[in-house]
Amino acid sequence: MTLSTIGSDQRSVLRTLAGRVTGNFIDGRWTPSSSPDTITVLDPSTGREIGTVPASSAADIDAAVAAARTAQPGWAALTPAARSKFLLDIATLTEELLEEISIIEAVDAGKPITAVRDEELPGVIDAMRFFAGAARTLPAPSSGDYLEGVSSIMRREPVGVAAGITPWNYPLLQAVAKVFPALATGNTYVLKPAETTPYSTAWLAEIVARVLPDGVFNVVFGTGAVAGDALARHPKVDVVSFTGSIETGRKVGIAAADGVKKAIMELGGNSPVIVFGDADLESALDAIAIGGLYNTGQECMSASRVIVHASLLDAFVDGLKARCSREKLGDVLDPTTTIGPLNSAQQRDRVLAKIEARTSGARVVAGGENCEGDGFFFPPTIVVGVADDEELVQEEIFGPVFTVQTFETEEQAIALANGTRYGLASSVFTSNVGTATRVQNALNFGTVWVNNHLVFAADLPVSGFGASGIGTENAEAGLLEYTRLKHVMVDNR
Ligand code: NAD
Repeated sequence: MTLSTIGSDQRSVLRTLAGRVTGNFIDGRWTPSSSPDTITVLDPSTGREIGTVPASSAADIDAAVAAARTAQPGWAALTPAARSKFLLDIATLTEELLEEISIIEAVDAGKPITAVRDEELPGVIDAMRFFAGAARTLPAPSSGDYLEGVSSIMRREPVGVAAGITPWNYPLLQAVAKVFPALATGNTYVLKPAETTPYSTAWLAEIVARVLPDGVFNVVFGTGAVAGDALARHPKVDVVSFTGSIETGRKVGIAAADGVKKAIMELGGNSPVIVFGDADLESALDAIAIGGLYNTGQECMSASRVIVHASLLDAFVDGLKARCSREKLGDVLDPTTTIGPLNSAQQRDRVLAKIEARTSGARVVAGGENCEGDGFFFPPTIVVGVADDEELVQEEIFGPVFTVQTFETEEQAIALANGTRYGLASSVFTSNVGTATRVQNALNFGTVWVNNHLVFAADLPVSGFGASGIGTENAEAGLLEYTRLKHVMVDNR
């Protein structure tokens, strides 16, 4: 496969931004890091360098948290309507600069430009507006006279300074899903983006600075082990939100617990997709192909673990192979590209290692090997005959890979679906409403789609059950994570 590199003019938008990133974004300006070390950021489509960002030290984290702390009382004192107006202005600016931010995110994260510009960014802008508005209608128990002689008042307050640690699969979307509910409810923020995808967060910092008071939103770059750890355990941070692997989530949780602070965790998934014999096979295949290949499968809710009724196996695999073969891998700025590269050479190695470690009964019937050429490309891959206890089935793959298992009875399907440590998302395809209802009730997952997969919006909650996380992102529940409930009791005698 020959993969062309196009769009050098468009890529200059990102190079220009990278040139401006001369430090961390603290208190409204680019601020030199106290650390001499840097992280080199690569373009996943080409493997070439985009730029460098600081590998920040704990002292940089101190400076960012101090700025957020100083800004917090003033920000919290604004009315919800005033904060909402600020956040809506950021959404408007983002919409005006849609083309620019789409190129930055597409190149830095390795996502097809059409997917970013036409699907992801409209969702991100909508999320900004959702959180801006929703924070004006926060619920609390009714104030009232619950005991004789006293009146009780309930106040929903911001927690204080929030910290976020984001992954590389949806850098801007994840940043907005963490930062906007926190800001909307009166918190200030320090965010550390992933090492390989810092630039859409850098862009957001500059946009936010055009609208918000200094210090309300701060960005610190760096490694997880140094900057991420220092942020999670910082004594002046009140709440931490993390998205990434279970193993890192555990470390972040321990660091947060050390300071007795709240941690919200979205720790990945390994979504089962149950296809019953009575499903509309063509529409199920369409939804599963999109659900498994979107973002090159680097998606915690990816439709990767298919559990299909034995009667449908051959037709299902043929249909999925046909859909995989229609996909076009290529440079992310080519508008005909449907699948971009994996985000890093390391991620490609991880995906390949899981496939190579398959058991002897498992057969690769499509893809399965690295693409030739520059960039970190990996083709759509289907593995059939997998054993339930092998790594490929039990662990998140985070690549464009489907495993296919079969079942005979509903009980078997549910047992296979619930049989991993993950509990983020799942789907069931059937034309029988009774089957759909029984199965959705039995699935231990925070999201269950019926006859669909990978459809969501900021209004709808994302909760990881089991080892997939703690707490909720998005929806009203996601806003409440950044608030604390105060009870004021007044003696009225
Ligand atoms: P990771 O969990 O190590 O990294 C995610 C974020 O955590 C990054 O910003 C990183 O700098 C930070 N981090 C790392 N160590 C830290 C520490 N000790 N303290 C604080 N922050 C720390 O993920 P990864 O190594 O980039 O990817 C590994 C696997 O994780 C992937 O193959 C995939 O299965 C999974 N993953 C899941 C998601 C998701 O959306 N749930 C996102 C990315 C990766």
